[in-house]
Amino acid sequence: MSRDDWRMETRAVREAVPPTAYGENAEALFLTSGYVQPDAETAARRFAGEDDGFTYGRYGNPTTSSFEQRLAAMEGAEAAMGTASGMSAVLMMCMGLLQAGDHVVASRSMFGSTIKLLGTDLAKFGVETTFVPQADVAAWRAAMRPNTKLLFAETPTNPLTEVCDIAALADMAHNAGALMAVDNCFATPVLQRPIALGADIVVHSGTKFLDGQGRVMAGALCASQRLVEKSFLPVLKSAGMTLAPFNAWVVLKGLETLAIRMRAQSETALAMAQWLGSHDQVTAVHYPALSKHPQHALAMSQMHGSGGAVLSFDVGGASPEVARARAFHVLDGLQTLSLCTNLGDTKTLCAHPASTSHGRLSEEQRQASGVTQGLIRVSVGLEHVQDIQADLLNGLNTL
Ligand SMILES: *Cc1c(COP(=O)(O)O)cnc(C)c1O
Repeated sequence: MSRDDWRMETRAVREAVPPTAYGENAEALFLTSGYVQPDAETAARRFAGEDDGFTYGRYGNPTTSSFEQRLAAMEGAEAAMGTASGMSAVLMMCMGLLQAGDHVVASRSMFGSTIKLLGTDLAKFGVETTFVPQADVAAWRAAMRPNTKLLFAETPTNPLTEVCDIAALADMAHNAGALMAVDNCFATPVLQRPIALGADIVVHSGTKFLDGQGRVMAGALCASQRLVEKSFLPVLKSAGMTLAPFNAWVVLKGLETLAIRMRAQSETALAMAQWLGSHDQVTAVHYPALSKHPQHALAMSQMHGSGGAVLSFDVGGASPEVARARAFHVLDGLQTLSLCTNLGDTKTLCAHPASTSHGRLSEEQRQASGVTQGLIRVSVGLEHVQDIQADLLNGLNTL
């Protein structure tokens, strides 16, 4: 059996650069910023990109290469490029693919910082973005222009778990000579492999499920060898959003348990979603594996029958102020779970998106993205489901 035949679980623990002469079984952590060159001629070739050897820490590191190889193999991509954070992966993608005068179509319910980066920061440099309703394929089509270079979706979205049809959007992009990028942070390659569905680029925040234990910041882009070498590597070299070797090593080891974590946490999330739906203080539950989710069938076919480990629920309220107070009451009642604006941890994390992750949006942008003041996001961890429920009941039963 060759490496190419390995299934994802095997790739997750076996794919890496070869071990050193010491034969270490766990992948080595190389903390070095420079590399000694065998001779001047080789050094010249390596710096010119004609030879594979390492040259300088901003350009590459063997531990980071192991992480990139492993993640690429799991995503079914030819190559990957590690970055310092998920947002620096988005920035690298945009800097590598776009120039002034180009147009992007993106979902209006993407991660808050992605909306800020596209809508504000890149707009300053003449890149225009049209934000469309996530699940409305016709709206994506209507937003296309002759200068559209990139379609960018995140599915499921944070925090409302809206799902879009990756294959349909990839077709639309390719028919227009554009590229399709998917932020796969919520599903991870365990549940969803966008490249197999036609996407050109997968964006990751390694900070989330890939690390899985809430320790380090990391990010990555997965794509063809050509895109990674010709479009992203030059940006890395000059802009330096390099993934630190220690962080790469932590996430590399996190990938080894990704499949079993995703399956266990998704199973608890489904039980939580069903349970929350039956509580009389809860007005809505957003979770793709619930049959009443608007894109349930699409989600189940695109995500290998799982809804993932993140859900959100609304506690409602007669006005935005009342809704906010009700949500805060539930969050302030937590004794075991973490009030923490992060996700993808083995610990269950609860957050109020409207005042945290989506707090930098204008009220208009927030309304458009559907993030109400009564909404609570839960990133379900590995605690026992009954202990998670008991902790949420402290606040839910005293509203
Ligand atoms: C967290 C997150 C990001 C950004 O990642 P960082 O590592 O925090 O920079 C991007 N997209 C989604 C969906 C996220 O949840």
